[in-house]
Amino acid sequence: MDAKERIEILVKLLNQYAYEYYVLDNPSISDYEYDKLYNELVNLEKEHPDFVLKDSPTQRVGDKVIDKFDKITHKVKMMSIDDIFSFEEVDKFVNDMQKINPSITFNCELKIDGLSVSCIYENGYLVTASTRGNGTIGEIITDNVKTIKSIPLKLNQPISIEARGEIFLPKKSLEKINQERSLQGLDLFQNCRNAASGTIKSLDSKVVASRGLDNFMYTLLNDNEVHGQKEALDTLVSLGFKVNNEGRLCKNSQEIKDYIDYWKIHKDDLPYPIDGVVIKVNDLGLYDSIGYTVKSPKWEVAFKYPAEVGTSILRDITFQVGRTGVITPVANFDTVYISGTDVSRATLHNEDFIKLRDIRIGDTIKVRKSGEIIPEVFEVDFSKRKADSKPFKMIENCPICGSKLVRNEGEADYYCINSSCKARILNSLIHFASKNAMNIEALGDKLIERFYELGLLKSIDDIYRLKEHREQLIKLDKLGEKSIDNILTSIDASKSNNLDHLIFGLGIRNVGSKVSRTLCEHYPSIDLLKEAKYEDLIKIDDIGDVIALSVVSYFKDEHNLTLISALKELGVNVNYQKINILDGAFAHKIVVLTGNLKDFTREEASNIIVSLGGKTSSSVSKKTDLVLAGDKAGSKLTKAEELGIKIINEDEFKKMIGENNE
Ligand code: NAD
Repeated sequence: MDAKERIEILVKLLNQYAYEYYVLDNPSISDYEYDKLYNELVNLEKEHPDFVLKDSPTQRVGDKVIDKFDKITHKVKMMSIDDIFSFEEVDKFVNDMQKINPSITFNCELKIDGLSVSCIYENGYLVTASTRGNGTIGEIITDNVKTIKSIPLKLNQPISIEARGEIFLPKKSLEKINQERSLQGLDLFQNCRNAASGTIKSLDSKVVASRGLDNFMYTLLNDNEVHGQKEALDTLVSLGFKVNNEGRLCKNSQEIKDYIDYWKIHKDDLPYPIDGVVIKVNDLGLYDSIGYTVKSPKWEVAFKYPAEVGTSILRDITFQVGRTGVITPVANFDTVYISGTDVSRATLHNEDFIKLRDIRIGDTIKVRKSGEIIPEVFEVDFSKRKADSKPFKMIENCPICGSKLVRNEGEADYYCINSSCKARILNSLIHFASKNAMNIEALGDKLIERFYELGLLKSIDDIYRLKEHREQLIKLDKLGEKSIDNILTSIDASKSNNLDHLIFGLGIRNVGSKVSRTLCEHYPSIDLLKEAKYEDLIKIDDIGDVIALSVVSYFKDEHNLTLISALKELGVNVNYQKINILDGAFAHKIVVLTGNLKDFTREEASNIIVSLGGKTSSSVSKKTDLVLAGDKAGSKLTKAEELGIKIINEDEFKKMIGENNE
């Protein structure tokens, strides 16, 4: 293949990967593989400048601008950063800069692996927050950004500036979100960056608020008093921003390399994800003279840490059965230590994934942790393959109940379709009781398994029959009357949940909590939903072919219909109470919160106000309709009094939302 052809292929491939990464937040290859291909393209383009294509990823910032958000044109372009991978390249960068000014210094910062945000403040107030977009045009995400507590809505000084930084998801939050998603049968986020990016582009600010995003700022624009990057970071702190404080001002190449080495060893101990170190010329006054390429500044480079890879021997491939019956092959290998943890298991996704890579038991495999969290088997060392190794063969029967597995046409997964399979039952009971489903908090995974083993929980409806066994239950070891009554009360309380929780809890394939709500909006009782036709379902926004088919086939199954009748008979609510926000207690009202509430966090109170038709604002003005004042309310309360705005306390708020009926 000649260079021109190879360039064309690389551009096509990399653009496809960039689309999956930036727009879908679901990359199909790792950053390591992407960077390898990208570098190949950079080198080919250097050798053959005539072949550089207009849509080459080297010619533009990779993010695509998504239509669902309003747009903003960045006053100063939001650029990418050129990557370097070796100490020779560090030396070269430092030498090049020292030629401009021999006493130049460099501010080294951790390269946080999230997505960049620009926040514009006018007279001290946050007015617009946006993504990098394609570098020139960004998407406006102000409402979502306002849910991130480390980004101040008001600065400590009434000045007009733009702050830029990185929104990221702490590692712990990713684990929590993925645990929940796995219980809900949703695809897991591959790493913190994808989760952060997927979250910030959500159209529902409540989802954003619940995910625990965080932020570090690293750029300050429009402040002419500030001359150095280090000074800019200090100023950002004094304005009320959160800044990463692991940065270091370095005078030469050696200091920079020490910094890089230090964080290579310690990066896994950080509670947030980093993928390298950014080395920036400290003197802001030199930036324009040093200049820019089409894509990135020449006064900074990003040293990227290589993906940590471990080599191991694949000992076995086992199979997990999910609540929908989906069968997931899992690689079990000798423990390897990668990116700070011991790893001995990794998902192999499905039959096609294994066959495509020709992974076999006994093989020497390469394992890496993509995005530092989820381990993946990415390569087989064929040179070490034993002569007697056998190609992988997918199992034909469920490893738990033995029934024949089924793979539908066009799908990658095999399913156990035996609804009495123990693994399916246990996982569906756990899902039914989980937070976003029926939220039966007292009924945890261990108890479910214990009650199942006792023969008390054979299917979901048995949960509501547990009270018939109270006498037997209170005699169980380590439980006792109090905790059993607690469990039974929380089970009883779940009967009155809104229908969308029940629909989600039933575990219909491809129906997550958001889709459940959409279905209920259109079919406000289970009897109506039962009769829903495929042709009508696919007309609903957000419901495509796959979901529509799942819903219809769920309600065709006799076993499911029996379950629904039983739940109805046991008193579980099967109707949807539509929450019409326009009739809500705060319809069309602008509400300002001030002071501390006893029973609600600010965020909870704001969410309630919004769900009941209102809007919240951070400052009191003539436009404010209502001020909700908690303890220690300060200047906002005084201003509301001056302007004669209606003020309510927490008890009155509770009455308005129907929580206090006395
Ligand atoms: P980048 O993310 O590698 O670097 C630039 C970004 O770094 C900035 O926009 C900013 O958001 C961030 N950053 C974090 N900390 C910073 C700090 N202290 N100072 C300044 N900036 C900081 O560049 P990019 O153009 O956004 O993305 C390219 C990278 O994305 C690739 O190298 C690859 O690893 C990954 N990618 C992967 C795939 C895939 O399919 N796996 C596809 C496309 C891109």
